Amino acid sequence: MDQASINALRALDVTPRGHFINGAFCASETGAQHQVLSPIDGLPLAQIAEGSPTDVDTAVRAARVAFEDGRWSRMAPAARKKVLLKLGDLIEAHALEIAVLGVRDNGTEINMAYKAEALSAAATFRYYAEVIDKVYGQIAPTSHDVLGLVHHAPVGVVGAIVPWNFPLMIGSWKIAPALAAGNSVVLKPAESASLSLLKIAELAAEAGVPDGVFNVVTGRGAVVGEALALSMDVDIMVFTGSGATGRRLLEYSARSNLKRCYLELGGKSPNIIFADAPDLAEAAKISAAGIFRNSGQVCVAGSRLLVQHEIFEDFVAEITLHAESFRVGDPLELNSQIGAVHSLPELEANLDFVTQAEAEGAERRTGGTRILTETGGYYMAPTVMTGVKQSDNLFQNEVFGPVLAVTPFKDEDEAIRLANATEYGLAAGVWTANLSRAHRMVAGIRAGVVHVNTYGGADLTVPLGGVGQSGNGHDKSLHALDKYFDLKTAWIKI
Ligand code: ADP
Repeated sequence: MDQASINALRALDVTPRGHFINGAFCASETGAQHQVLSPIDGLPLAQIAEGSPTDVDTAVRAARVAFEDGRWSRMAPAARKKVLLKLGDLIEAHALEIAVLGVRDNGTEINMAYKAEALSAAATFRYYAEVIDKVYGQIAPTSHDVLGLVHHAPVGVVGAIVPWNFPLMIGSWKIAPALAAGNSVVLKPAESASLSLLKIAELAAEAGVPDGVFNVVTGRGAVVGEALALSMDVDIMVFTGSGATGRRLLEYSARSNLKRCYLELGGKSPNIIFADAPDLAEAAKISAAGIFRNSGQVCVAGSRLLVQHEIFEDFVAEITLHAESFRVGDPLELNSQIGAVHSLPELEANLDFVTQAEAEGAERRTGGTRILTETGGYYMAPTVMTGVKQSDNLFQNEVFGPVLAVTPFKDEDEAIRLANATEYGLAAGVWTANLSRAHRMVAGIRAGVVHVNTYGGADLTVPLGGVGQSGNGHDKSLHALDKYFDLKTAWIKI
């Protein structure tokens, strides 16, 4: 990856050729499009097909026909594996192009987009490709005159809705296991970050995923997403996004065919620094990256820093220095460490959180402002707020921006109480040299993942999902496969 290649790619016209349905690009049936702006400079980037409920029906029908005729669902797992391995190779071969495409509509820094979006998508397709011809059914321990077989049957048509922060990484966490298991998929990307996923659809066809098996319908959540989730012919929904939309999906399910909904929702993850942390300088550095990279637009971001009283001022000073030393700028410049906030409304909402926190008595140690306004892009200075109380909005609610809320604590009991004092339960961090304390904290914190003496970076081998109002679905690892199968029993009299 070098700057000259990135610069060449950033100049390309990226207007997509519409939805990807039944193996081909197509315009919306209404012909409608919407304009996507680039967060890098605020300028028009591309026109995206504005999907309608009819487009969704067309895609779901194509997916259903493909599923029922078995062109993919009844293909031998080893044959599906071959196709998905090829898709992984194609994604890797186009990794820089895909990463730049994604950065241009979502604003993530290129270094992160290249690894966490493009290369990680390639790795995800390969992982589930490799797994799928090792999934066995079961023979039940029945009496001798019957045979009880437990099969893993693909569920049918999977509806997937993904957000804009890591469209490709999160998208592939859902598409790869769903396809590996033999399902058909209809995917709705976020309206403002569809480009890289449309490219994956094209590469999937090139790799040999049959027509109709993987479809992408672009457009608005309240139109395309709603139609998909209300469809009587979609068997399960998999989703990453806000709690508000997650709730709607459950309603749509109740109003339609009771499809199962797997929801990966927001977080307000506590990152807890004990005075006995093995290396406080390292803790400050990694904790700063754990909230500020990708402008804080990470569902597992460690956005609540809980710091033990005796080290409070020193630690806050150290993390503030880190916040101020990040190079925020054009996400397509290799030396930028933090790119753009995704959109103007997101940026404004982040600034509102800071204003409200100050009104509630918090102190702004650094940041809290829009910067680089001369670029026209949406950039925000990494922000550290202290004096944030449990009852404050900034303590309780997800900003999804580069804003760190800092709160002191006295001892382990108070740390656990504060850690668990929100409706969320996605991720957490604990920094301590005391092994027993580390285990007690892991046991005591309500979260899907607890990092100890590090933050973030958990890879594909382990599940990611939340508890409480952070959701109920797990992506990644072998566990993620379960939701893409129905268990079917064959009870055979001998
Ligand atoms: P975020 O705050 O990350 O934008 P959203 O939940 O609004 O979270 O968006 C995540 C995904 O959900 C996007 O693809 C968006 O278009 C979609 N979405 C938004 N509203 C709805 C809805 N009413 N029904 C279905 N999908 C929706």
